[in-house]
Amino acid sequence: QIEVRDLHKYYGKNEVLKGISLKFEKGDVVCVIGPSGSGKSTLLRTLNGLEEATSGEIIVDGFRLTDKNTDINRVRENIGMVFQHFNLFPNMTVLENIVYAPISLKKLNRKEAEEKATDLLDVIGMSEFRDAMPETLSGGQKQRVAIIRALEMDPDVMLFDEPTSALDPEMVGEVLDLMRRIAADGTTMIIVTHEMGFARKVANRVLFTEGGVILEDGTPEQLFDHPQQDRTKEFLDKVL
Ligand code: ATP
Ligand code: MG
Repeated sequence: QIEVRDLHKYYGKNEVLKGISLKFEKGDVVCVIGPSGSGKSTLLRTLNGLEEATSGEIIVDGFRLTDKNTDINRVRENIGMVFQHFNLFPNMTVLENIVYAPISLKKLNRKEAEEKATDLLDVIGMSEFRDAMPETLSGGQKQRVAIIRALEMDPDVMLFDEPTSALDPEMVGEVLDLMRRIAADGTTMIIVTHEMGFARKVANRVLFTEGGVILEDGTPEQLFDHPQQDRTKEFLDKVL
């Protein structure tokens, strides 16, 4: 349902994505690993139109994101994105954070949106925080709210850019647990992460990026246990 064809991205003269071609199927849980600066975040950001591709094609559910005539906002409604630093609206309560997008985009009326938000808060055991302000939450709580805020839109695809990297170690588990549940529901997920244990257990596919290309692409077993490229081995030796 997502296809990327020969994607290139330049920042000025710096070629950050050097011809990436990929196909993701519905229900895929894909972890993207690779060294700093290899283009992982740029790839995710071009996939949902936060960055414009310099050349190449991105097709999401038949919509050509890279076509000037495509309404990117429409496509983006079906793609949830979760960032390292949560990006909750600081001046809104937890509930308002969650219902803001679906109401303003007229996907749900207020009653529907609040009911759905209440159910999602229940799922993550945070019902009592519905009227709390984000600053009063722990990092793990903020990130779980950010994730259900994305889920409230019923996205077909969820993109995660290092969702646990900014968390204290004891909060990583609760966020990964929630992500595992979303994966089990069959949502397509593309996750940039340094959590190799999660990638091995939950992903059905792992990509290794290096210098703006996908150097290796396979099942977790292939990539972690039988890496084909020396560069992949070297990276894994450092992080595992
Ligand atoms: P990290 O693991 O550190 O998050 P990454 O793999 O996500 O790294 P990117 O953030 O995609 O890497 O960056 C890839 C390259 O593009 C880097 O050389 C970076 O300096 C450059 N870059 C990223 N964003 C911009 C920008 N907005 N303007 C200019 N250069 C950028
Ligand atoms: Mg990054």
